[in-house]
Parts: sequence; structure tokens; C-alpha cells
Amino acid sequence: MNSNIKNTIISKIDDKSLILAKNLIENEELVAFPTETVYGLGGLATSDTAVKKIFEAKGRPQDNPLIVHVHKDYDLTQLVCIDFDYVYKLIDAFLPGPLTMVFRGKGNVSKLVSCGLDTLAVRIPSSKGAQAFLKAVNLPIAAPSANVSKHTSPVTAEHVYNDLNGKIDLILDGGKCEGGIESTVLDVTCEVPRILRSGLVTISMIKKVVGNCVYAENKQTDKVMSPGVKYTHYTPKCDTILFDRKDYLKAQNFYDNLVKQGKNPYFLCDDIIYEKLSGNHLSLGITGEEIASNLYYRLLEGEKIADFIIGITVDSGSDIDNGIMNRMSKACKKA
Ligand code: AMP
Ligand code: MG
Repeated sequence: MNSNIKNTIISKIDDKSLILAKNLIENEELVAFPTETVYGLGGLATSDTAVKKIFEAKGRPQDNPLIVHVHKDYDLTQLVCIDFDYVYKLIDAFLPGPLTMVFRGKGNVSKLVSCGLDTLAVRIPSSKGAQAFLKAVNLPIAAPSANVSKHTSPVTAEHVYNDLNGKIDLILDGGKCEGGIESTVLDVTCEVPRILRSGLVTISMIKKVVGNCVYAENKQTDKVMSPGVKYTHYTPKCDTILFDRKDYLKAQNFYDNLVKQGKNPYFLCDDIIYEKLSGNHLSLGITGEEIASNLYYRLLEGEKIADFIIGITVDSGSDIDNGIMNRMSKACKKA
């Protein structure tokens, strides 16, 4: 038997499991925990050993930096430099919540967290479970999503178990994550904040608070600055294809042909476009919030029951669609 194989426990969050979580973290082991976005795979951010274990457990590329998570009463200036006053407005408006900010780091966590960049990404998650865990450990926790690299991000404890069973000791179970997609990543090292990854805190919400904000996702230089955005991501373990919603008839055709071949396809789409289609449906709902919340859950349901997921681009009318399409277009192959 391989002695590295662990007996992974799933536990609800209570005093006993929080003591266990604290002990594991202090011993440089890993703990998966729920947040309002997706489940995180947490390790002590000040420990090279723990941070290395995160990269190993996930099979994460060595140049994809991690986000440090802290509880809501933690003094951020222990970790980072706040260079612009607008950051205080963002903190007031959005934290705790699904907004990660990239600051100049102070060098107080393992260098492996930022993969050699001199910046540090920090976030204060809002969910009760995340706060209970972060309060109990009272230490900065480096945490990517708790899935095997490139697979769909987990939004239940069971999803985490399916990917990381045998690789970590403890999964804290806080039920389904309501947000459903990862945090917005915002570079706050420049005069105008720049969105490196879209999420539930949208560009219009940020502009309302600080006046200006830009997207940086598609420029070559920004790919270097936020290496994570260049990787394939979120892919389920079945075939996928993505159609533009204006091509819904082509999508129907594609579906019908698969059925003729004896395959079992499912549409992954919002309920509005589904009214024009017929066949199996992994329902995403209607509003931007609903669609974000359902996206990974449905992809992970789909990989179990379908042999082909046919995604259709969403149009909820909200700028959350940006974050949703950023994930969906990486999860599904282009038609
Ligand atoms: P994940 O852990 O999968 O949610 O990915 C974390 C995201 O945050 C990736 O897109 C990273 O590129 C981004 N990120 C983390 N740290 C930094 C940093 N110091 N500078 C820029 N982007 C970062
Ligand atoms: Mg991830």
C-alpha cells in the first residue's frame, strides 16, 4: 500500500472539525473548505511545504499563482501594500465577498504562492463556513479551487471528494456554494483597477464604487501578469461543444445527429434559449446569478449522465455573463 494515500474525511463544520482543521493546517497539511464561490484547497501560506502540497495534490502548473484567504478581521497590511486610496472604497463595498485583489506583496508568505511574481492576490471570502475555518486557524491560507487541475471546479463537498479522495485529510462540508464561479481577480497596483478575471463582482459594480475600471483579460502582457488565465480549465470528463445562441438551430441539428448515432447528449443552456430546443437539458436558470450558481454544478452532473454536453452561450442581460462565458468557453470546445 502507498503510505502517501490518505484517509479523506468529509465533516460538517463544528467545533471538533475546526480543531482538526487548525491542527492539520499548523502541521502543513491541506484542508478543503467551502466559500461563497467554489470549494478551496487550503494550506498554510507561510509554509513552502504546504504550498508545494497544494500544487502536487491538484497537479497545478508551477507558474499559476495562488490566492491567499484571510478572515474578515485580519489586517491586510500585514501581507500587502495598499498603494491607492480607491482600494479602501473597494474593501468597504465588496469585502468580505467574491473579490480578489492583487497587491504589491510584503514578502511575508511563501514565495511559491505567487510563483515568482512580486505581487500577492488576497481575498476575504464571505461564507459562514469559510469565515469559521479562517477564524479558527487565524493564519493566511493559500487556496486554489479544490479540484484536480483543468477539471471543473467543485461546488459541493462530494465534488471535492471525487477529485481529491486519498490526497488530502479533511474536507469541511458547508453545503453547496451559492456563487458558483470563482472570484473576480482585480489588479489594484495601478491607478485604474484592472480586471484580470471576471466574476460575480462585475465591472459596472466596481465602476459605481471607484469611478473607473478596465478589463485586462485578453492582452498578451496581462496573460503574463496573471498566468492562470492562459490555461485550459473547468473541463468535464465527457465530450463538449459550445454554440453561439444565435446558432441554436445548428446546435439542435448537432444534438439530433448524436441521438441518431446512439449517443446521449444534453444541452447546457439557460431556460430562455431552451424554449426553442428539444431534448435533454442541464438547466442553468435565467438570471446571471442563477446561471453562475448552476454552471459547475450542472457540468459535473452532466459528465456523469451525458456522453456529450452541448453548451449554448448565455445572454442574461447582466454583466455577470462575462464571468460565465469566460468559464463556459474554456469548459466547452468551440463549435
Ligand atoms: P484559482 O486558484 O484557480 O482560482 O486561480 C487563481 C487566479 O488568480 C488565477 O487566475 C491566477 O492567475 C490569479 N492570481 C493569483 N495570484 C496572482 C498574482 N499575484 N497576480 C496576478 N494574478 C494572480
Ligand atoms: Mg481553479
